[in-house]
Amino acid sequence: MNAELQVAWCRRHPKQETTTMTTFADFHARSISDSERNAFWAEQAKLVDWKIAPTEVVDYSNPPFARWFPDGVTNLCHNALDRHLPALQDQPALIAISTETDTERTYTYGELHAEVQRMAAVLQSFGVQKGDRVQIYMPMVAEAVFAMLASVRLGAIHSVVFGGFASGSLASRIDDAQPKVIVSTDAGSRGGRVVAYKPLLDEALQLSSHKPGAVLMVNRGLAPMQMQAGRDHDWAALRALHLDAQVPCTWVQSTDPSYILYTSGTTGKPKGVQRDTGGYTVALASSMDHIFHGKPGDTYFCTSDIGWVVGHSYIIYAPLIAGMATVLYEGLPVRPDAGIWWSIVEKYKVTHMFSAPTAIRVLKKQDPSFLTKYDLSSLQALWLAGEPLDEPTAQWISSAIGVPIVDNYWQTETGWPIMTLCNGVEKQASRFGSPGKAVYGYNVKLIDEATGQELTGANEKGVLAIEGPLPPGCLQTVWGDDERFVNTYWKSIPGRMVYSTFDWGIRDADGYYFILGRTDDVINVAGHRLGTREIEESISGHPAIAEVAVVGVADKLKGQAAMAFAVVRDPRSVETAEQRSKLEAEVMKQVDGQLGAVARPSRVLFVTTLPKTRSGKLLRRALQAVAENRDPGDLTTMEDPGALQQVKELVLQG
Ligand code: ATP
Ligand code: MG
Repeated sequence: MNAELQVAWCRRHPKQETTTMTTFADFHARSISDSERNAFWAEQAKLVDWKIAPTEVVDYSNPPFARWFPDGVTNLCHNALDRHLPALQDQPALIAISTETDTERTYTYGELHAEVQRMAAVLQSFGVQKGDRVQIYMPMVAEAVFAMLASVRLGAIHSVVFGGFASGSLASRIDDAQPKVIVSTDAGSRGGRVVAYKPLLDEALQLSSHKPGAVLMVNRGLAPMQMQAGRDHDWAALRALHLDAQVPCTWVQSTDPSYILYTSGTTGKPKGVQRDTGGYTVALASSMDHIFHGKPGDTYFCTSDIGWVVGHSYIIYAPLIAGMATVLYEGLPVRPDAGIWWSIVEKYKVTHMFSAPTAIRVLKKQDPSFLTKYDLSSLQALWLAGEPLDEPTAQWISSAIGVPIVDNYWQTETGWPIMTLCNGVEKQASRFGSPGKAVYGYNVKLIDEATGQELTGANEKGVLAIEGPLPPGCLQTVWGDDERFVNTYWKSIPGRMVYSTFDWGIRDADGYYFILGRTDDVINVAGHRLGTREIEESISGHPAIAEVAVVGVADKLKGQAAMAFAVVRDPRSVETAEQRSKLEAEVMKQVDGQLGAVARPSRVLFVTTLPKTRSGKLLRRALQAVAENRDPGDLTTMEDPGALQQVKELVLQG
């Protein structure tokens, strides 16, 4: 951005003096203390444009339901787009890149604003109003972003369903969200293979009891479509009728929902997380200052998918709220080759990059020369979230691309990080294996699962919990099911009403947390409780191993035994039975040396791929079930069913 524009933007958005304090410890303490919380968040709320500024900060009269900025009136789309006009009118907002269709298009703030208004006009023509749901079943294309922004512009509630889901998963989400309109497309594409969406959508609409009033189809020209007269409409034709559309933002109450998003379904049936408007906008704006330090002129590249929470918050809303350009990438990280991400960084001078450990582990199996081929000097840091970041992977990518790696831990439920480094407040040193300290706003506690007592000592292991009220941005409730919200999250710990993350953790003497895995991923070997994560970390330290999953399987003698499923970096290293048993023995020896013989896996089996959710999380529960010869249960969120078949065969072979 040129200097003049920067000045104009800054004048319109004077940087709030959010604090006179210097240390993060003070900043954090203020954000959660009963006496200072309101003043703290009132300051953060100034980062956002309000139609009517809130006079009340939080209403927590009916715990655990927190109502943030309850009398404030605002609009999420206004904060993402309109507010930046005219200063950023001609600056890039959305950079849509597809290596699947070989297309690239940059939308300036002005252009994106126009497209969103066209989409809003079309949705309005179907009767969409404040409070209505709009379901979006789309791949990573610009129209999906238009649809999301257009929904919140109208005060409607979007529900994005990940484009990789099949008809059954989509149908259950249609019935849960009950959309007035569904926005979809003829097809997605993955690795050059066209995946037709329309037949899946048609099937889902047969299966669902709820029927939307209209279906809006974006025709990408990838797959033939059967349009159902009266129900299905063509986006291009309707857009042409609304080229000059001017659809003002519908002002909503801060506590009005902006979207519903389902959790990944790693541990069971997905939960429909309901997000508010004002609290979320404040949380994201504030996170851009204090965590990501992004500003106009910067470019954010988040490699997640718009179907996940990271995509909602850090592909779309937070970068736009901060006036940055954001990259929307459709394609694999290894196609046309493993240098594609880095070539995007070079070409668009990406300053902020956000990805997931699972994606980095994919790159680890590729030729490392791609990592040094491009000019990455614009890049400030790489944030990773979604799964435990093992030290070898973190170290490998950090030294390969030469920028700091920042782990951050959060959940669909929270909408923004619970733990990370808040370098915008105070420079914090990172520690490998730790996502850092509790972020401001989060009153994180470690709780003894059995007694409900808080653990305050260093390095004590407990359930990670959050004392209410949850900070702005976190889920308001489970969509349509307040009872499930209370019972699932707030009643799992005896005698204490705290929000459970269902993850284990420890905190060291300096306040750094270490995530030890999910509470249901603990195995009990001859009376010793072991986190599967600890064993995985030890195994992934072996230079031949790219990725590993450890589960506990029933064992007659020990109660449970650890079993490891590993993917090697070079498949040629486990071609023969001899090679396999040699490597298995080496891995066992490594665990013995690092964690003790009790943690040693009873078997290390080599597979070419691990069962994962479509968001890239290990499906340990399915792996465990198959390893124990049980039914793996709900697999609707699973990426590749072939992965389980391999495991089944190996287990049967013994
Ligand atoms: P479900 O709740 O439906 O079972 P899920 O928990 O996988 O699915 P998400 O909200 O996508 O759904 O994932 C959040 C979880 O991911 C966290 O609770 C934690 O287990 C894991 N996680 C996220 N980030 C990190 C991280 N940086 N380190 C360790 N674990 C992480
Ligand atoms: Mg979860």
